[in-house]
Amino acid sequence: MAGKSFFVDTTKCTACRGCQVACKQWNQLLATETKNWGSHQNPEDLSFATYKLVRFSEVVSDGEFRWYFFPDQCRHCVAPPCKEVAEALGYKKAILHDEATGAVIFSQEVKIKPDDFKEIKESCPFNIPRYDTKKQLMAKCTMCIDRVSNGLLPACVKACPTGTMNFGDRDKILALAEKRLKEVKAKYPKASLLNAEDVRAVFLVIDDSEKYWEFAKGQGGIGITRMMALNKMIRPIVNLLGSRG
Ligand code: SF4
Ligand code: SF4
Repeated sequence: MAGKSFFVDTTKCTACRGCQVACKQWNQLLATETKNWGSHQNPEDLSFATYKLVRFSEVVSDGEFRWYFFPDQCRHCVAPPCKEVAEALGYKKAILHDEATGAVIFSQEVKIKPDDFKEIKESCPFNIPRYDTKKQLMAKCTMCIDRVSNGLLPACVKACPTGTMNFGDRDKILALAEKRLKEVKAKYPKASLLNAEDVRAVFLVIDDSEKYWEFAKGQGGIGITRMMALNKMIRPIVNLLGSRG
């Protein structure tokens, strides 16, 4: 399969948040007010102005205290359910799927009605799409398509000092991910790559995915393939409601 992919090796992440800041800077996103809400994870969640967020989880696993860091972002699904549902709702140009890279891009020109946004958001197994109610626009990680299509790395990858964030041709990235998984499994037998065949942002974790973040592996354990099948089933029904531009 052609195109590009990320490999996110969470075993190397120090939670410095360089990726988070670089994303804001490159995409000229407004600063988000932060506060002490009992976690170093700040801001608390992704938003219309925060496409990349390092999630912090404190867990006890195998009898030891661990801090897991998860630099969350859109997975740029190989067959994106968000796009399927948006099109089924009549928004043919709201979500673009770039052929060369595989990037899934939310248009900043097509307005989405609030109720329709809810359906699009619910279709995402990873809880990624965010919305500005005033502008009626959706937003999320763009894969830095403007940088990538000019031969540059995404800003988060460029900024990462530890080798957590990797990016490149999909076959090379998957090979790198498999190689690293083998190394890590020697010490952490539960290590796995999350949804490697279905997404273009492949995360390596050393423990059960839900210990990192509820949506790390896909919504409620339904899994991406089943979610897509459900979307395909509902599409003809939604199509009957007609096209809305
Ligand atoms: S992770 Fe969610 S928002 Fe990103 S492409 Fe997949 S379904 Fe769409
Ligand atoms: S820049 Fe790299 S090490 Fe720092 S938080 Fe992001 S992924 Fe982790």
